[in-house]
Amino acid sequence: MTTSARSTIFPILLMVLLSIIPNASPAQAVQPKLSVHWEELTAADFREGIHRAQGTCLLPFGILEKHGPHLPLGTDLLDVRYAALHAAEQEYAVVFPEYYFGQIAEARHEPGTVAYSREMQLALLQETTDEMARNGCKKVIIVNGHGGNEHLLPFFAQSQLDKPHDYVVYVFDRRTPESGGPPKKTAIDMHAGESETSKMMISRPDTVHIDRATTESGADQHRQNLPEDVYTGIWWYARFPGHYSGDGSAATRELGKFQMDSWIDAVAKAIRAVKADEVSLKLQNEFYEKSKHPLDTQP
Ligand SMILES: [Zn+2]
Repeated sequence: MTTSARSTIFPILLMVLLSIIPNASPAQAVQPKLSVHWEELTAADFREGIHRAQGTCLLPFGILEKHGPHLPLGTDLLDVRYAALHAAEQEYAVVFPEYYFGQIAEARHEPGTVAYSREMQLALLQETTDEMARNGCKKVIIVNGHGGNEHLLPFFAQSQLDKPHDYVVYVFDRRTPESGGPPKKTAIDMHAGESETSKMMISRPDTVHIDRATTESGADQHRQNLPEDVYTGIWWYARFPGHYSGDGSAATRELGKFQMDSWIDAVAKAIRAVKADEVSLKLQNEFYEKSKHPLDTQP
């Protein structure tokens, strides 16, 4: 064999050898692709997923509620799942299936609303996080996709101190970044408006009927005259009885991409922080122990 023939054959031989060795790529050999969807994992892969997630699981929390004249009832569910699933792809976590059993009493007059009683909301959420924890999710991050849950979820987290739990409930509740991105065109933008419609153009553009966005008004009706620091349950109905706040026709894909990417990054950052958190469960356990005999607690 001449030197030139050898130099031609050896690289070919090497390529053939590499192609027949299974998992030749070291990265693939260490980390085979694992779905982030709880319901898509086999039982054995679920065990591996929990291990890889370091016991960190996401519970994306949506709702079924009218979203203006142009967005689907499941807008909050579809958006929050899009953000949570993409975040878990960036920073591995196991993502619980569709969950939409939250607070939405204020939309009971609109078609398609599913509003469970408060007892059911709390009982179902407790049993869900208990079952997640029994399956190894010792860190449960509830990712909120619905404004009407913003009191329910911190209350639920606080109520975990009622009695001992061997896991921690974390609540992540920020859907839009404080600043940056394409300038917005509308001032009122709380529900099915410019931001939410823009995000849906990214997560599920096939469900957005932008041509219908101006067929109803999303203006603030100001029907209550109370100081800002006086709260009533009817406040939303007083201001936005048609479950539309803002103007969805102002939406753009550019704004949607900016807001959705920010949401995904923020959830991924929260997953990393929760994985690194070794303090909360220890403090919870210390607290449960001390609360059995409060008179022994020293200042
Ligand atoms: Zn919404």
